[in-house]
Amino acid sequence: MTVQGTVSHDSLGITDSHNHLWISPVQGADPGSPVLDQFEPMRQELTEFHEKGGQTILDCQPQGCGRDGNRLLALSEASGVTVVACTGFHRRKYYAPDHWLWDAQPPKISEFICSELHQGLFETRDRPSPVRAGFIKIALEDTWARCPHAALEGAAAAALQSRSVMEIHTEKGALAEKACIYFMDQGLLPIQLVLCHMDKRPDLVLHKELARIGVLLEYDTFHRPKYEPSTNLWPLIEKMVIAGYTDRVALATDLAEVRLYHFLGGGPGLASLPGEIRSQLHQKGIPEAAQRQLLGGNISRRLAGIN
Ligand SMILES: [Zn+2]
Repeated sequence: MTVQGTVSHDSLGITDSHNHLWISPVQGADPGSPVLDQFEPMRQELTEFHEKGGQTILDCQPQGCGRDGNRLLALSEASGVTVVACTGFHRRKYYAPDHWLWDAQPPKISEFICSELHQGLFETRDRPSPVRAGFIKIALEDTWARCPHAALEGAAAAALQSRSVMEIHTEKGALAEKACIYFMDQGLLPIQLVLCHMDKRPDLVLHKELARIGVLLEYDTFHRPKYEPSTNLWPLIEKMVIAGYTDRVALATDLAEVRLYHFLGGGPGLASLPGEIRSQLHQKGIPEAAQRQLLGGNISRRLAGIN
């Protein structure tokens, strides 16, 4: 399910598994929250992504923390890039302190998430055909005690009912194993679970164990020097490929900060995934078939519910 309606999963092509295309300012949110609210530069950014061979992007901003499904649709139409929108919840600091979600009980949260998957995104309900969410995005905090348990329970119920993919923000990989156990105990299948930002915790033994269970690991620190991608991310990709786990890793650039976009801040931009990053995979001898899996094949099959 894309913002423009349903498409066949094998038409998604090169896909960025985790990014941000639009974030409206949120009153009362943490002052450091990212804002991406310039249409024209983002349209250019997407056009460049498309010209480099990129075809699809998963937008990871849920309702209440700056998402605008109408803008996502307009950006997709104006650029030719397929966009998949999400429902769910992000970290609490990105919301107004009185946002309804944080006091809600699990059934209400589940009902809301299911309604965004089936009827349409809250802010697009006035359209003749509302934009629908294609997956669930949730966020963990650094410790289990600090996580929003009612929201986790509600999201799990919604994923169980809808069989949707759930992308799980981790704080630098923390709680990855806990989240797997929790959601599988709730009845979710490993193919529904995508653990995000796992390359910030480049523990190969852990990654292989998680891959063996069947969850998808999302890596995205290509443009984050503080995580030393040449020492951590790139060897991790090569080792996971050598270990035969080419079907368990999905790549993304998760830019979010203005400075990292080409047309907003002079950064590497969305086009770096089909551009430099793809070239580098090639130079490192990652086989073509594996490149296709890492750059879209794996996430698109899971969005379609195929193992
Ligand atoms: Zn993100």
